[in-house]
Amino acid sequence: MYEYRAPRRELSFVLHEVLEAERALAALGRDDVNRELIDSVVEEAGRYCEQVLSPLNWRGDHEGPVWQDGRVTTPAGFREAYQQFCRDGWAGMAAVPEHGGQGLPALVHVPVGEMLCSAAMAWRMASGLSEGAVLALTRHGSAAVQQRWLGALVKGAWTGTMCLTEPQAGTDLGLLRTRAEPDPAGGYRLSGTKIFISWGEHDLTEDILHLVLARLPDAAPGTRGISLFAVPKRLDGRPNGVRCESIETKMGIHGSPTCVLSFDAAHGELIGSAGGGLACMFTMMNHARLGVGLQGLGLSERALQAASRYAFERQQGRAASGPSARDRAADPIVVHADVRRMLMTLKALVEGGRLLAYQTYLYDDLAGAATDAAARHRAETLVALLVPIVKGFLTETAMETTSLAVQVHGGSGFIRDTGVEQYLRDAKIASIYEGTNGVQAMDLVGRKLLGTGGESVRILAAEIEATLAGEAPAPLAAAVAQLRASLHEWLELSALIAARAPQDPEEAGAAASDYLQFSGYLALGWCWLRMARVAAARLAAGDGERAFYEGKLAAARFYFERLLPRTLAHAAAIRAGAGSLPRLEQAQYAAS
Ligand SMILES: Cc1cc2nc3c(=O)[nH]c(=O)nc-3n(C[C@H](O)[C@H](O)[C@H](O)COP(=O)(O)OP(=O)(O)OC[C@H]3O[C@@H](n4cnc5c(N)ncnc54)[C@H](O)[C@@H]3O)c2cc1C
Repeated sequence: MYEYRAPRRELSFVLHEVLEAERALAALGRDDVNRELIDSVVEEAGRYCEQVLSPLNWRGDHEGPVWQDGRVTTPAGFREAYQQFCRDGWAGMAAVPEHGGQGLPALVHVPVGEMLCSAAMAWRMASGLSEGAVLALTRHGSAAVQQRWLGALVKGAWTGTMCLTEPQAGTDLGLLRTRAEPDPAGGYRLSGTKIFISWGEHDLTEDILHLVLARLPDAAPGTRGISLFAVPKRLDGRPNGVRCESIETKMGIHGSPTCVLSFDAAHGELIGSAGGGLACMFTMMNHARLGVGLQGLGLSERALQAASRYAFERQQGRAASGPSARDRAADPIVVHADVRRMLMTLKALVEGGRLLAYQTYLYDDLAGAATDAAARHRAETLVALLVPIVKGFLTETAMETTSLAVQVHGGSGFIRDTGVEQYLRDAKIASIYEGTNGVQAMDLVGRKLLGTGGESVRILAAEIEATLAGEAPAPLAAAVAQLRASLHEWLELSALIAARAPQDPEEAGAAASDYLQFSGYLALGWCWLRMARVAAARLAAGDGERAFYEGKLAAARFYFERLLPRTLAHAAAIRAGAGSLPRLEQAQYAAS
């Protein structure tokens, strides 16, 4: 069993040395957020994650929540950890001060989010969903709704949920049937069944605010007819017609109760305009999608920590170049090139992914603070483009990293008590919920590439070009050339998809997942070049910590030589087009 260690030095590198957080935030008018404050947030959150949450991760997986008569009891320790989380003020980290929050910029709460996911992802989902609910009410709730619920959500006295899915309506929310009837006494009465609702019932708090998508009586069919409602679990201290019918038995995130909720004439209040529910929900979904990307990153970091510890402990075989631990019967497995391949893959994906995620949150800060319309548009476009990449790419890579961590452990990795197989099981859901990764890919191609006429791609390309234009010390010359070639190829592929899409409606979907993967590898290449440049400069200046910066250069080299070339396979698949994806009969796919 491995306990989590907050990666303080890594966080400091990304925040202070690469993104220059203090300077970047001061430029946005946040000179109140200095390095000392950022470091103390990271330090305090890191300690909480290490000491309080990490030990709950495995226990939550083993015990899971228990359902009885509509009530859910969470695993031992979950409630106390949540109470401490709220007491220490973490629940209101991101919320605006007008509603009792701390108003920390996204760049400052993202490391906290990452560490919470590493420490206990299933537990973290409760507070993560509440943050999304706070955002949705802050942006779209009426003054009365805000007055009634925001304060309690921000304090963490209530948690929030996101109730979209129904048995017949998953990806296709246009099929949802939950009804909302105007109540002559005020508000609305909601009836219907929602499934798969994370933290839909629990004992962390007495009260829960459900954000529910439903249809008004005269609503148009499809997604245009959907409205958003806030439905409390209890109304004035009494049951409000919301019942948890059961909880699911799942592959992973066992600590998180996944609920079937029935709404029986439950009182609710409209959020935003009638028929505008999906637009409001997108506020929450974009927040949640970045949050799910952080889940992927958090699990990858935990997988990296476990794999690297084991690789130095476990002794098997001898190094190809001759024994390295002569006093022992065998060398540690890290002497084997193939084990180092696994560790380097983990390191390159985790650290590159971290910068990509944090950069996206910084663009979000920029979008919120920019007074100049052009700068705001640019930042908003970058966030919109990067949301599906952060969600889709960091969760796909989490399945690779967590699987590699199991592999490094050999047979022990497959044994539950070692603890690493949990990371692999937990990782899978992140590629499914908040819009499957297939849906993220369609969003990237449909809304972001084609929907902006290629503008979003050109804006990101300009950011990468700016990095490429900077000075490149000799060891980075090859990386610069590889990244330039990948960028060129990405722009060509983007143009190819845009040219094919109007000719055949199947083309965009046929290219989407490979395009998302290509975009992810390109974006990580951009991040690795930036990190390598900082490391090379520190080494040249003799700034000390040679081992740390040499590790960065080694990982950058590995990334450019061994991982970025994966784009070649994705490019080939994109060029192949829809022709290689014919619709076969069922019996042609498999015996039926
Ligand atoms: C543990 C867990 C927690 C969850 N938490 C919540 C929650 O808190 N709130 C909530 O509302 N929901 C929640 N969900 C539901 C989750 O968001 C959905 O399962 C997910 O959106 C996919 O919907 P589906 O399961 O109906 O799959 P389907 O929509 O049936 O999709 C099946 C497959 O078809 C593909 N597909 C479907 N449509 C398209 C398309 N148009 N183009 C391309 N491919 C397509 C999908 O990518 C997928 O691979 C949760 C689910 C789980 C398992």
